[in-house]
Amino acid sequence: MSAEPNSAVGEQPSAKPKKATKGSTRTSAKSPVKGAGAAKGSAKEPAQGKETSKGPAAGAKGAGGAGAKPESRLAMVRRARRMNRELAEVYPYAHPELDFRNPFELLVATVLSAQTTDLRVNQTTPAVFAKYPTPEDMAAAVPEELEEIIRPTGFFRAKAKSLIGLSTALRDRFDGEVPGRLADLVSLPGVGRKTANVVLGNAFDVPGLTVDTHFGRLVRRWKWTEQEDPEKVEAEIAAIFPKSEWTMLSHRVIFHGRRICHSRKPACGACPIAHLCPSYGEGETDPEKARKLLKYEMGGYPGQRLNPPPDYPGKAAAPMGAV
Ligand code: SF4
Repeated sequence: MSAEPNSAVGEQPSAKPKKATKGSTRTSAKSPVKGAGAAKGSAKEPAQGKETSKGPAAGAKGAGGAGAKPESRLAMVRRARRMNRELAEVYPYAHPELDFRNPFELLVATVLSAQTTDLRVNQTTPAVFAKYPTPEDMAAAVPEELEEIIRPTGFFRAKAKSLIGLSTALRDRFDGEVPGRLADLVSLPGVGRKTANVVLGNAFDVPGLTVDTHFGRLVRRWKWTEQEDPEKVEAEIAAIFPKSEWTMLSHRVIFHGRRICHSRKPACGACPIAHLCPSYGEGETDPEKARKLLKYEMGGYPGQRLNPPPDYPGKAAAPMGAV
């Protein structure tokens, strides 16, 4: 399985101080293998759409098909919300893919996740948190020692500097606690809006959209927005969905981007929401070939977390160095 660098969360290190609802049941909510299997079935719809040269699929007519009427704003919003409902059925277990036990661990893991995979971060953080369990401990770290521990995540000097800086700020300005407000979080060294939204959404239950590379790519493929700038993407997507959906929508979209709708070769022929996608055909449409492109639990591989939530249907990732 290829490991795709994760930009879901951490900011660029070089930057100085980063419920399922009703709907069609195309895929099993319980078995990822079935999910992929159901995708096999659903591949018929887009294939038909392609044969008739009318665009992607019935559900996405007007969303970009050749000769189709431009899709109205209302139709796009309805389609987007339906896609979210169907993604909730495909990924009822969607969750943050970083292991953490408290807001500080999530903040540290998120900073470490820039330009690497969540798996690599999850394999690295047990040693980090064993040695530096609190902001006070990390603020007092000897930089070279912290650098050595986080070296596997890459950009380890810049990341160590951010971690020591943000831990010092937590110790000195926030009584050693991670704040639960966006304005406070982004005031920490190395913490940008993306990292702050991850922490807010997953450690504080404050709704937030995580616009990472996967999220941006998919929402543009789906014609939910044409914006490239993450903050503009965030604002436009926020206008489509109620706040209560923001955090889980982010997880579902990122799950889909990592497992099926890949950057270079989306597995369109195995995509359970292809019938709603105006970009069907951008990737592999042959169902057999497409299934081979599926990743993580969808492809029968381990996930990224060493300690996944209990409802995760795939296998836990192995610790660093495990065979
Ligand atoms: S894999 Fe991506 S581009 Fe292809 S049909 Fe699915 S959502 Fe659309």
